[in-house]
Amino acid sequence: MYKTHTCGALRPEHIGQTVTLAGWVNTRRDQGGLTFIDLRDRWGVTQVVLNREVSPEAHAAASHVRNEYVLRIGGLVRARLAGKENPKLATGAVELEAATLEVLNAAKVLPFTINEELPVDENVRLKYRYLDLRRERMRYNLDLRYRMLKFIRDYLHGQHFMEVETPILFKTTPEGARDYLVPSRVHPGEFYALPQSPQQLKQLLMVAGVERYFQIARCFRDEDQRGDRQPEFTQLDLEMSFITREDILQLIEGMFTQLVETLVPHKRLLFKPWPRLTYAEAMARFGKDNPDLRFGLELKDVSDLAPQTGFKVFADTVARGGHVRGLNAKGLGGYTRKQVDELTEYVKTYGAKGLAYIAVEPNGQYKSTFAKFLPADVLAQLLARLEAEPGDLLLFVADQPAVVSEALGRLRVELADRLKLRDDSVLAFCWVIDFPYVNWSEADQRWDPSHHLFTAPMPEDEPLLDSDPGRARGQQYDLVLNNYEVGGGSIRIHRRDLQEKVFKLIGLDFDVAQERFGHMLEAFEFGVPPHGGIAPGIDRLAMILAGEPNIREVIAFPKNQAAMDVMAGAPSPAEPKQLADLHIAVLAAPAVPAPNPTAAAGE
Ligand code: ASP
Repeated sequence: MYKTHTCGALRPEHIGQTVTLAGWVNTRRDQGGLTFIDLRDRWGVTQVVLNREVSPEAHAAASHVRNEYVLRIGGLVRARLAGKENPKLATGAVELEAATLEVLNAAKVLPFTINEELPVDENVRLKYRYLDLRRERMRYNLDLRYRMLKFIRDYLHGQHFMEVETPILFKTTPEGARDYLVPSRVHPGEFYALPQSPQQLKQLLMVAGVERYFQIARCFRDEDQRGDRQPEFTQLDLEMSFITREDILQLIEGMFTQLVETLVPHKRLLFKPWPRLTYAEAMARFGKDNPDLRFGLELKDVSDLAPQTGFKVFADTVARGGHVRGLNAKGLGGYTRKQVDELTEYVKTYGAKGLAYIAVEPNGQYKSTFAKFLPADVLAQLLARLEAEPGDLLLFVADQPAVVSEALGRLRVELADRLKLRDDSVLAFCWVIDFPYVNWSEADQRWDPSHHLFTAPMPEDEPLLDSDPGRARGQQYDLVLNNYEVGGGSIRIHRRDLQEKVFKLIGLDFDVAQERFGHMLEAFEFGVPPHGGIAPGIDRLAMILAGEPNIREVIAFPKNQAAMDVMAGAPSPAEPKQLADLHIAVLAAPAVPAPNPTAAAGE
């Protein structure tokens, strides 16, 4: 046995026992006749004392060890001297008086410190990820993620779900991204696609009669990297038969409420039950379909007042079918011209042409880009609508509804950051429902599914698919937490005729639909239960629960922002022999140096 106890286990009740610990040297302090080593393992840190008088050999051996050496130390547990206890350490009441010290492995000087949270270049951390993961912050994140997955598995087993694995080598499963392809050696010129999600497979499991399926599923999407995206990521993929939307929402809400109360009790769950917003309401009030509900700063529509403001930009925009909406940046009435200009530049990056404002000064005076045209009664109505008080700054955007939503929705979050309203210790879950079924793509001149191909329209909106698809709503629901979409799902189509109609609506050619999804269409002819599901993203949830700024921090071995594994060096060129076996000729050799990973955009 290498160790009798972990480095986090010893307590006053162990005093007087002879024990053996094994782990890494977290710190070492040499005080002449006494050497102190804090020995660390996954479970904690224990102080070890090496006394030249008591055990000269162990003391001498300790003089050679350095940080991160791997040691095995035997000795006697004793109380620390009065006043020397360390209340910050679970083992802080005791220490180990070493009798023996064995060096199991030495360590070179490390590229960064393990025992302190100091800033380190991320690519250095990722190159030495196995060292990075030794740090307390990463150990916590890894452990939290493990406990989340364990909680989810236990919870779902309690609800009679069956965990089923589905293939990684499959056929295109579109979720709006590019596929990763894997060439087949035995079928020259043919490719598997890695699943963007197990969507079709879980639906086919419903056809198979599984009724309640889940999987901690790896998904692959070749898309541009961002802080909340990785080429491969993990979803809790789930599907149920003979259910309604309500069953799914209740299940997920119950599970995640209990999960956060159990695993992160120090965080405050803002809502119980979770609010439900329609897509239209989320866009109107927050400008986003993934609203951050931890703070107010809601958008207010003032389009009705626009013609009376005397401000041509407002009046003309509304006359052309646009909107004027505003928000009250509480307490920022003292912003300088330069600061307001910064906000204007900010909204311009999201498509707005400008930002009109009214600053309500503490003495009740107004400063405004357009107040000089404003009749007093219209001003009074604007102020009332935005609940303005002295010291507030009212900001307005006039444009087409989508532009207003985008610009003000982003501005709202930016202002909340400036006002420090985004408190990481608060968790605000909500549901967004009643999404439009399809969106018109100007670029492709066709309807795009707003969720995916297999989502069912609202039954009452089915006729609209023929007459006015843009007005149809889908049976889609999104799970939102603190400004992130952390999951989406839907009730599915389970009739062949409807599925074919949807393929046609989104411009999928009959032959293409047959080639790609013929197996689904065929399955829909063999007795399909009504079904639906959802897929919360484990990485994003873990990131938010851990209070981390990006998902790389909660993934053991992530890719960097340039989609590279800098530890192993992937991707990398293949051997000519491998390519030949795969019947592949590479047209563009990787002559360009790999992109500078730290310069990748997107965060
Ligand atoms: N497959 C969907 C996704 O990955 C989730 C679902 O509809 O269950 O977003």
